[in-house]
Amino acid sequence: MSEAPPTPSAAFGAWAGGQVTERALCVLCPNPGPMTLDGTNTWVLLEPGATDAVVIDPGPLHEEHLRAVVAAVEARGARVARTVLTHGHADHAEGAERFAELTGAPTRAVGRGHDDLGDGDVVRAGGLELRVVATPGHTSDSLSFALPADHALLTGDTVLGRGTTVVAHPDGELAAYLDSLARLAALTGGGSVTSILPGHGPVVPDAAAMVAFYRRHRAERLEQVRQALADGAAQADDPVQAVVERVYADVPREVWPAAALSVAAQLEYLRARP
Ligand SMILES: [Zn+2]
Repeated sequence: MSEAPPTPSAAFGAWAGGQVTERALCVLCPNPGPMTLDGTNTWVLLEPGATDAVVIDPGPLHEEHLRAVVAAVEARGARVARTVLTHGHADHAEGAERFAELTGAPTRAVGRGHDDLGDGDVVRAGGLELRVVATPGHTSDSLSFALPADHALLTGDTVLGRGTTVVAHPDGELAAYLDSLARLAALTGGGSVTSILPGHGPVVPDAAAMVAFYRRHRAERLEQVRQALADGAAQADDPVQAVVERVYADVPREVWPAAALSVAAQLEYLRARP
């Protein structure tokens, strides 16, 4: 039997965002759903006393939300100086262009051409320092951001505030995802990062415990998939669907399409490692 995940710091419906560390404020987008949990977390990062803020993931193209983010920054006597994206999925990035129009701030992410972000890059604004940690796996362009001054790590969809994430095959890859979790385990295990500020769901106060749970969960799922294949799913007309029906029987059917992506990623992983 699998061990229980760490208890989320807020129950479903109780997470509303707000100021969570000295430098980090979450503006929660009103787009809750089976894949977005409580909604998308848009993060505003501001050094105390500074007037230049960094925004992580403006969110979907939701005019009221984008304006609420700008208002939250202005209420602190600041302006948005830089916008960065944890990855290109619509619930994080679709509003980026409109947000750039509203703020005049440049947007940086993986795969944006000349202004690409990469592992080890440092994003600075108003004395704030963010370090880029490449964490591909959920998608190939997934990034995390370390905020050393607050011992916090912003993980996008790589680690969530509750539940587990999808490896979005074929762009997302399980081998890359497992490597990324190992890197996050090294970061969180050393004590330099204590909390996770995720892309969806509440803040994770015990970063190391959550990353350890994610690694255990992935290993257990992979074993379940191996077992399902051995029990006959490998011979089914649609092995992915057959595995989903066996391994993800306990998750709501509305997330089965997402589970199918993770299963496809796991089958690809196992094919390369017979
Ligand atoms: Zn995503």
